[in-house]
Amino acid sequence: MTSTLDAAAVRADFPLLDETIHGQRLVYLDSAATSQKPRAVIDAEVDFLTRANAAVHRGAHTLAAEATELFEDARAAVAGFVGAQPEQLVWTSGATAGINLVAYAIGNATAGRGAPASARFALAPGDELVITESEHHANLIPWQELAARTGAALKHIPVRDDGTIDTDAAASVISDRTSVVAFPHVSNVLGIVNPVAEFVALARSAGAVTVLDACQSAPHLPLDLPALGVDLAVFSGHKMLGPYGVGALYGRSDVLEALPPFLTGGSMITTVTLDEAKYLPPPQRFEAGTQPVSQAIGLAAAVRYLDSVGMDAVHAHETALGERMGEGLRSIPGIRLLGDPASGSGAGHVERVALWAFEVEGVHAHDAGQFLDSRGIAVRVGHHCAQPLHRRFGVTATVRASAALYNTADEVDAFLDAVSGIRSFFG
Ligand code: PLP
Repeated sequence: MTSTLDAAAVRADFPLLDETIHGQRLVYLDSAATSQKPRAVIDAEVDFLTRANAAVHRGAHTLAAEATELFEDARAAVAGFVGAQPEQLVWTSGATAGINLVAYAIGNATAGRGAPASARFALAPGDELVITESEHHANLIPWQELAARTGAALKHIPVRDDGTIDTDAAASVISDRTSVVAFPHVSNVLGIVNPVAEFVALARSAGAVTVLDACQSAPHLPLDLPALGVDLAVFSGHKMLGPYGVGALYGRSDVLEALPPFLTGGSMITTVTLDEAKYLPPPQRFEAGTQPVSQAIGLAAAVRYLDSVGMDAVHAHETALGERMGEGLRSIPGIRLLGDPASGSGAGHVERVALWAFEVEGVHAHDAGQFLDSRGIAVRVGHHCAQPLHRRFGVTATVRASAALYNTADEVDAFLDAVSGIRSFFG
């Protein structure tokens, strides 16, 4: 694939990338944890707060109307970025909040709450929730809790040695007892793009609801959630050049319409008496209380920025960086990549994002991370909120390098050069 992205021009839009760390040029390879922000995002939030700040959907005054319009424009922009309609996009504080919203809403349906149509989500003992072995804890623990509250069983689809999800096993784990299939588009440890269509087909034939964790795909791939056919999906603003404290839940219209609310309170109702309340249709039904307004406007600026660069160009650029990183890491003695499709154990070539987690033989991940930091290179170390997956590969901690559109081939080379010096340094 040819990259048509001008990395130098993109970099210049990100003020923080000019920082030096320990007197050296920062090489930021921790975008899977949180991305850096372009000036356009920072300006959008500051501009809203200095010029248009007011409570949305409430006031009768001019500023309130302007703030409401900007907020709803932001919803339309973010929905459009993932191929959705504005009413299919619910603001959340992030992916974790989005998954908890869904799990608690299903719990409420199980308790008999919501409209008659909510009964389609009600769980009974014997029903099963299916996840994969590669989940971030955000797409695992809410389902553990839901299983504990409802008596449903939690099953998982295993990961193969090469990091791919075992689609053969998926066909037997997903059955007509399955009510929910929750899975990551891209694991935050393995970087592999999972075959969404296969999971959706299996879940559909079982009559199960699909929940896609799109946290690690939304910043890196062109994304059309309705075309992927998932029922629900979540992502986080701060990982896709946007502000902290904002993210979104996408839902197919019929699914959102049938789901009971999770949080309740102001802004999500039509009429309230002292005994009961009538709820607004989605998305407002799921947006109780004050929303992250300036953050949503910042996130809209982020997706507009990504669109201006072009998601095809972003993907092509990052794919080239990821391949360079993977080939370089494989050639360094003592480096073990987690879930490497090129290891020959399974699926062979798979689509992936520019993210690799690895062990350095004889060196603890935290020491390796500190060594890289001393050279100005920022990576993540630890279990990356995916303990079961690390356990699957027999490790407790890895180093994770993750690139974004603003990284360059030179930075990848600087990173590889530093990694090749880790073992001799710790001797
Ligand atoms: N899912 C995946 C795959 C992630 O990588 C993360 C964050 O690292 C999350 C969910 C949780 O995102 P947040 O902490 O923004 O809610």
